[in-house]
Amino acid sequence: MTKMMQAAVVTAFGKPLEIQQVPIPIPGPGEILIKTEACGVCHTDLHAANGDWPVKPTPPFTPGHEGIGRVVALGAGVTIVRMGDRVGVPWLYSACGHCEHCLSAWETVCAEAEFGGYTKNGGFAEYIVANPNYVAHIPAGLSPQEAAPLICAGITTYKGLKETEARPGDWVAISGAGGLGHLAIQYAKAMGFKVCAVDIDEGKLAHATRLGADLVVNARDPGAIEAVRSGTGGGAHGVLITAPSIDAFQQGVAMTRKHGTCALVGLPKGEFPVPLFDVVANCVTIRGSFVGTRQDMAEALAFAADGKVRADIELQPLSAINDIFERLEHGKVAARVVIDFSNGAAAPQASSETAKEPQPA
Ligand code: NAD
Ligand code: ZN
Ligand code: ZN
Repeated sequence: MTKMMQAAVVTAFGKPLEIQQVPIPIPGPGEILIKTEACGVCHTDLHAANGDWPVKPTPPFTPGHEGIGRVVALGAGVTIVRMGDRVGVPWLYSACGHCEHCLSAWETVCAEAEFGGYTKNGGFAEYIVANPNYVAHIPAGLSPQEAAPLICAGITTYKGLKETEARPGDWVAISGAGGLGHLAIQYAKAMGFKVCAVDIDEGKLAHATRLGADLVVNARDPGAIEAVRSGTGGGAHGVLITAPSIDAFQQGVAMTRKHGTCALVGLPKGEFPVPLFDVVANCVTIRGSFVGTRQDMAEALAFAADGKVRADIELQPLSAINDIFERLEHGKVAARVVIDFSNGAAAPQASSETAKEPQPA
């Protein structure tokens, strides 16, 4: 008899997700099966379910790319992970391993990359199939619930901050202090930067101050750009834009110091105008940054294992997914919602039908 699991499924763009009973997937050769313990809800999942981007997933699919769990089955030939290991299934689900980008540790831009919860079914489900070569290895001291946001929001902001090329003592401005931003503030402080947090929500700004931001600015204030420029002595050396809002992009470029770098991470639908004279004459770099490599993942997790970064999480059951999306869309999530599977509601046990014996090394 086929063993079933619960999954939240996008059946059509812009429609509520359906909680469905679907077969527990069976890992093929070189794949592994993970029993989900927790999965964070990223704003990207909302873009995915709405079909916001030019490259779209194909419904029906299950979103979620912050899924953490234990390995419960190994496909033929898998040796890099073992049964019972705690791993995460990130956005970078797999890459070819052989192209110029993979060979130069830029696997994030591999043309053959697959994406968790987008081109592959993700973590809004009781079980996830994963590629063992690309899973995150969760340090022993972290719970699955607190690890979940780190494998997308954490790695993305840590990498994005590195991409600003700011140095210890420099100012970084972080636009958007939500799921990504609240971790960005902590990484930035741990990396030795002075932090200016920018958001449209006073609650998020108060939270940013509690997390150690040295300066906070409300993006809706007509003097916001000037407040950042004067507060940082001429603009931030590095700007990291996580806000899912086009307005934040033009503003963020204007907050960048001469010869500084503005790293674009947020992915709202659309385009923004670049003031050419200012960017050229001030030698400003504008740079996209997309999640991070496996090495970035190990580094980002190590900060948390060392107690320097901690995700603020709100636990919810899978059945709440449409309410969570509604709140995320309207900026009503304080930091990160994590779907908690640890009570396992209707979770069936990993069956001997799906769990194959580990292969000899
Ligand atoms: P979130 O909803 O948790 O947080 C967004 C924050 O931005 C909120 O605090 C909101 O108040 C704030 N905000 C909204 N408009 C603003 C404005 N005009 N100025 C300043 N702040 C504003 O979302 P999230 O999960 O942090 O994701 C943010 C974005 O990052 C999404 O577009 C997501 O798709 C993208 N993302 C990109 C990558 C990548 O690799 N580049 C990875 C993960 C997420
Ligand atoms: Zn994400
Ligand atoms: Zn490649």
